[in-house]
Amino acid sequence: MEKIKMTTPLVEMDGDEMTRILWQMIKDELLNPFVELRTEYYDLGLKHRDETDDQVTYDSAYANKKYGVAVKCATITPNAARVKEYDLKEMWKSPNGTIRAILDGTVFRTPIVVKGIEPCVKNWKRPITIARHAYGDVYKASEIRVPGPGKAELVYTAEDGTQIKETIADFKGSGVLQGMHNLDASITSFARSCFNYALDQKQDLWFSTKDTISKKYDHTFKDIFQEIYENEYKEQFEKAGITYFYTLIDDAVARIMKSEGGMIWACKNYDGDVMSDMISSAFGSLAMMTSVLVSPDGNFEYEAAHGTVQRHYYKHLNGEETSTNSVATIFAWTGALRKRGELDGLKDLMAFADKLEQATIQTIEEGKMTKDLALITTMPNPTVLNSKEFICAIRENLEKMM
Ligand code: NAP
Ligand code: MG
Repeated sequence: MEKIKMTTPLVEMDGDEMTRILWQMIKDELLNPFVELRTEYYDLGLKHRDETDDQVTYDSAYANKKYGVAVKCATITPNAARVKEYDLKEMWKSPNGTIRAILDGTVFRTPIVVKGIEPCVKNWKRPITIARHAYGDVYKASEIRVPGPGKAELVYTAEDGTQIKETIADFKGSGVLQGMHNLDASITSFARSCFNYALDQKQDLWFSTKDTISKKYDHTFKDIFQEIYENEYKEQFEKAGITYFYTLIDDAVARIMKSEGGMIWACKNYDGDVMSDMISSAFGSLAMMTSVLVSPDGNFEYEAAHGTVQRHYYKHLNGEETSTNSVATIFAWTGALRKRGELDGLKDLMAFADKLEQATIQTIEEGKMTKDLALITTMPNPTVLNSKEFICAIRENLEKMM
């Protein structure tokens, strides 16, 4: 069989620990035998980030901007323990944070749905994607622990010195105080990323805030989305047969619970933090959750939603067998390859991505899975495979399809 050709390289961001082991297995067993893989390789493994003073992370993000599509392995975000473990020069910043800041993107998280791993909500038939705004609000707030009686005011001073003032509260006793902000520019990027992704996926877009209570703050989010929709996306949405739907956050929660799924749900920063954990655990497992960072100007970075699975890696280093789920990492590759194929007009590459996903799902639906899934499946007597065996079982199914 002739290997499938690529024209533009994918930006490949390698990572750490167990996911780095899976990364190589996926390339060896599921990609290289079938595709003449063209990638521009960046080693984001912690050791190499340290050696390059984290320059490699910046370079990889700029390459993502240049070529448009990247696939990323999970990486360690250093903390004090990691600084010691890897003898780091510095506690380098989260690579995902660095990449997100350069691409100015929004993260979309989608569960991978297979028969036998049933969502807790029985009417959910199709995946629900959460789009979480990644800037501001309570994550960039100033807070005061108010010690006793006094007056709290909100003051904005313009560059020319003019002020806008609001009384927050007349404290009669002790309490708490918080000031937070957001930026029109960031909300606008968020909105564009969401509208673009909805068009890309051909799925309805929902957006929810609490604008009835927060008449300036949340209402601005609502207005910016609405304005961008009307001016830039309405026609395209109608042509694609999808809708944009705004509702209050509590109404959205109630409707989502009763829905069949299949929509993209855009959330403010805090709502998205909470809702994405609810959606991922209700759909089954973090190991079955994909994640894609989409920039407002149309660059994509695909990855798994989980971390480097450190505990399994230490077992692996000890020579013990691991049963680590590679599905989300495989889907990061298929997402990136399909997008590359779409941008370059490579039908074979897109078809290959579809087949690899089908082969992966089929393997699980045949009862062959890793331990994390075997623990939660509704299938009787699943076969538990180790990390390598699972990938090889997918390869067997894939070979039959090719
Ligand atoms: P984690 O790697 O997501 O793993 C937490 C636990 O979830 C694992 O110990 C395992 O449970 C289970 N799990 C996660 N993914 C799995 C998979 N593919 N297959 C089977 N089980 C899976 O989170 P962590 O251990 O808290 O973090 C480890 C490192 O990852 C940290 O250094 C963190 O900075 C980094 N991280 C990176 C990213 C990213 O790059 N996007 C995201 C999050 C965390 P059991 O041990 O019970 O089997
Ligand atoms: Mg969270």
